[in-house]
Amino acid sequence: MPKLRLQGNPNQVRYNGQRALIMSDTPQPSPAVEVAFSLRIGEGTLNAKLDVPAGKTTLTELLPILQNFDSSIIDHVVSEATGAGHPVSCRAGCGACCRQMVPLSIFEAEFLSKWFSTLPVERQAELEERFRRALIRLKEAGVLDKIMDPNWGTDEKSFVQMAVDYFHAGVPCPFLEDESCSIHPIRPLICREYLVTSPAELCQDPSVHQISAIHLPIMLSQALYKMGQELTRDPRGWMPLIFLLAWGKRGVKPGDYFSGTGQEVLRMFMEHLTNEPPAAGATLMQPR
Ligand code: SF4
Repeated sequence: MPKLRLQGNPNQVRYNGQRALIMSDTPQPSPAVEVAFSLRIGEGTLNAKLDVPAGKTTLTELLPILQNFDSSIIDHVVSEATGAGHPVSCRAGCGACCRQMVPLSIFEAEFLSKWFSTLPVERQAELEERFRRALIRLKEAGVLDKIMDPNWGTDEKSFVQMAVDYFHAGVPCPFLEDESCSIHPIRPLICREYLVTSPAELCQDPSVHQISAIHLPIMLSQALYKMGQELTRDPRGWMPLIFLLAWGKRGVKPGDYFSGTGQEVLRMFMEHLTNEPPAAGATLMQPR
């Protein structure tokens, strides 16, 4: 079991009877309430305790807690894989996978847009320029026109083909600096969930080489995509991360459509994660 840092306001997670502790790097709104729950995952059971806001919140505001929860599950699975002789080969300074198309949920897009607006104007301008150049390179590679087609990615074949085309364009994520993620603590869930155990050099072209990825028994990113699908009626429920800044200019707040107390919002999220029908009386709330 990984030895996790414990500071501040700890959240607790147990998986198959083993306990892990996760910390929240982001200050929790006060007051908080502890929510305990169990999830059946594959052959095992995950028992978790999370501290969530006692008062009104939204799915987007809850994301720091979900990010920590996701990372805690991943740390545990990685530890098990290492113990079984399959250590993760991903390292800081290897950004090979950061040239892939990143499916970003609209709630994470809202979260990152808000974060972006808090940056100094010089940093905003720097990132805007990187996004602009990346879009130009994708356009020149013929990928941008394909992404603008609303029908791609609605079936596995077209998704895989787009992923290959995008990767072959060789355009790094605008958040990649010195081959490391410059937004590591707040990176999207799908970026956290992609870890490989095969030699790092094979990641130079995953369309040619056989990559062995860590199998996660549960992926929190998928629940966010599902909630995005439900809200937008878009069969994908996510956008390529490269559209983040353009999307953010619209000023929409999809997280507000999943709002309530911390406990209520967490329950909505868990229902989408586990595919269980909403409990009696549960409603999709309107924006605040
Ligand atoms: S957000 Fe970070 S981890 Fe994700 S693709 Fe971009 S640089 Fe890589």
